[in-house]
Amino acid sequence: MRFCNRDFPAKAPLLAMNYYTWGTQSPVHQKIDPLKNKSNEQDSEIRALRGQVDRLTLACQSMWELIRDTGNFSEDELKSKIAEVDLRDGALDGKLGSAVIECKSCKRNTNSRRECCVWCGAEVERAHIFEG
Ligand SMILES: [Zn+2]
Repeated sequence: MRFCNRDFPAKAPLLAMNYYTWGTQSPVHQKIDPLKNKSNEQDSEIRALRGQVDRLTLACQSMWELIRDTGNFSEDELKSKIAEVDLRDGALDGKLGSAVIECKSCKRNTNSRRECCVWCGAEVERAHIFEG
């Protein structure tokens, strides 16, 4: 794909003059700088999340190897369990998912992903210990 800027020949001198006149405080830069900051914040957040996923993957693999090495479970049993837990929300999609559960306090339906019941504010008991 080729970069195409139809305004380039006509506006390039204006942009250059704008920069020369205003420097980094030009109206153009005032529009671009917040976008750069937002992009840098998002890049930083993505790096942090990748690091967190890497650490969790390492912890899961290590825990699995400890369990596997006891000789009580095979990798096929682990795969079966993963599929069973995955299907609890009705979809085999590689995600834990959420479910409609009954609030223990008010007995109304609420979502398992919420920390508190949407009706009464009572803490929602999670169905899964690692549910986020
Ligand atoms: Zn409730």
